[in-house]
Amino acid sequence: MRCRICGRKPVIYMPHHRLALCREDFASWFERYTDRTVREFGMFTSEDRILVAVSGGKDSLALWHVLRKLGYRADGLYVHLGIGDYSERSRRKVEDFARSIGAGLLLVDLTQELAGIPDLERLSARSACSLCGMVKRYNFNRVAREHGYSVLATGHNLDDEASSLLANLIHWNLKYLGRKYPVLEEEGGFVRKVKPFCKFTEKETALYALLNGIEFVEEECPFSEDASTIFYKDILNRIEERFPGTKLRFYLEYLRKVYPRFREEEEEGALGLCRVCGEPTPAEVCPVCRLRERILNFKKDSNGA
Ligand code: SF4
Ligand code: ZN
Repeated sequence: MRCRICGRKPVIYMPHHRLALCREDFASWFERYTDRTVREFGMFTSEDRILVAVSGGKDSLALWHVLRKLGYRADGLYVHLGIGDYSERSRRKVEDFARSIGAGLLLVDLTQELAGIPDLERLSARSACSLCGMVKRYNFNRVAREHGYSVLATGHNLDDEASSLLANLIHWNLKYLGRKYPVLEEEGGFVRKVKPFCKFTEKETALYALLNGIEFVEEECPFSEDASTIFYKDILNRIEERFPGTKLRFYLEYLRKVYPRFREEEEEGALGLCRVCGEPTPAEVCPVCRLRERILNFKKDSNGA
């Protein structure tokens, strides 16, 4: 097998594109393909100010790298989750990376603003990952809005998108399926959210990060993603091995044929603004402000005890 562009030895073969590429040609293909996805879904233009949610992992750092390389105005946002050494190492990777590309980085320290994920988990009946997802989404939106960014970009890849699609289809979670799209437009206090890597597999983003010398955190978060996510990814990989191209087709055909129908199912439920912090929420007080109140009460009780 040879690189389709230059005929040299390939570093990757992508069966879903029937494409083998060498190091250099893969990197430039990856960048062009990102830009094509951005344009195809109307994610943003060079006029937009983009905030990239970075965790220190390969996907988000590679995304930030590519967007800057393509000439977009992209800064980073890191939410420090207070998960021991894992969070410390991630923060250092993100800060070093921001410095190396000379880009702006915003930092939210959850341990100061609210409480770290392990403490939140102790105070709540919800799982660490569900709390983490909630406070991250909250902070991504709040910071983007407060700092005047028009777009919030995340590094979700095809494996993330296809596996959550499969899980939500199995449970016929129509509300979720009606919002499963790589662009969610700005509305009712939410900034526009985009996923420019939604068509790349995990293997492709990892290779791009490695080829570009991007230093990312390789270790898993100690809470790790819940077992069901890993299970659905594994099932899709097994199907992919047997029938190459299925994963991408499953996702893209959903977007093309099925999403427009589920979109109608999305609840129109009027969103108000939280009376404490002003973020969008269906309740009078948003879940993060309720959590904050619980923490304050807990501290009061412990001091009084
Ligand atoms: Fe947060 Fe769970 Fe991911 Fe850890 S594995 S960063 S707790 S969502
Ligand atoms: Zn609130």
